[in-house]
Amino acid sequence: MVIAVASGKGGTGKTTVAVSLAITAADQSSAKPLLLDCDVEEPNSGLFLDIDYSTGRDTGVLVPEVDLDKCTYCGRCAEVCVWNAIAVAGEKVLVFRDLCHGCGSCSLVCPEDAISEITHVTGRIEGGSDGSINFARGILNVGQAMPVPVISSLLNEYLPQSGNSTVIIDSSPGTSCPVVEAVSRSDYVILVTEPTPFGLHDLKAAVDVVKQLGIPAGVIINRDGIGNNDVEKYCHSAYLPVLAKIPMDRRIAEMLSEGIPLLRGLPEYKEVFLDVLAAVREEVKK
Ligand code: SF4
Ligand code: SF4
Repeated sequence: MVIAVASGKGGTGKTTVAVSLAITAADQSSAKPLLLDCDVEEPNSGLFLDIDYSTGRDTGVLVPEVDLDKCTYCGRCAEVCVWNAIAVAGEKVLVFRDLCHGCGSCSLVCPEDAISEITHVTGRIEGGSDGSINFARGILNVGQAMPVPVISSLLNEYLPQSGNSTVIIDSSPGTSCPVVEAVSRSDYVILVTEPTPFGLHDLKAAVDVVKQLGIPAGVIINRDGIGNNDVEKYCHSAYLPVLAKIPMDRRIAEMLSEGIPLLRGLPEYKEVFLDVLAAVREEVKK
């Protein structure tokens, strides 16, 4: 079972929830859960676990390399590139690697077989364990603009290895391509929000994305007690189960600021996450 944890808005407690679910799943079963940190621009869930990293490799985008001895400057490669990542100017072929999405179309259409593909390194994926939780993260290199290829590499490498383990994906905040990439292979999406007008606005956007992907979803309301109950009303009207409400509790913020995971510092919250996992499993079975 693959559970993605997402949020339309940053700072709602998505990582706290993802780490708590992984700890709960680890306590429940002898099969180690796998926590995948797909928030590659700021992968911080590993900071709450004592991960011993054992593997790591660079990853990136396959970009075109043009053999000018074969090229006839016909321009077909530039015509087919919807990202404007390759241009033909006179007797020059320019490749803009940071715009290239690695789709391979240019090499497919080249009539002279002049294009080969080389890896443009944009990030890194690393894996390890804290003893009870298998963990892997993607890291986008500073200055790189495209997180999706790093997320894809992470999922392609680790999801096939997960077997029957519970997989928790900590996705990026927001509703753009990195989130779609991170959640699209999951069986269920948990949307973490807070009961404020901003939380509600961004939750609605996230719900739209998840509905378009056709993945069942539920909501965890974090910092319950601040704001109002509009989020709950919306969930009710949109037939979204509220899986849990985590109260505004100063002790949680204090612990997280010290890098202590919620369930290791305040084990009384364990029941909350046991109930969440049980509810999600029920939904996935349907
Ligand atoms: S399609 Fe091939 S031959 Fe034509 S300009 Fe591009 S690289 Fe050169
Ligand atoms: S691989 Fe795709 S995105 Fe990159 S230059 Fe070729 S056509 Fe454009």
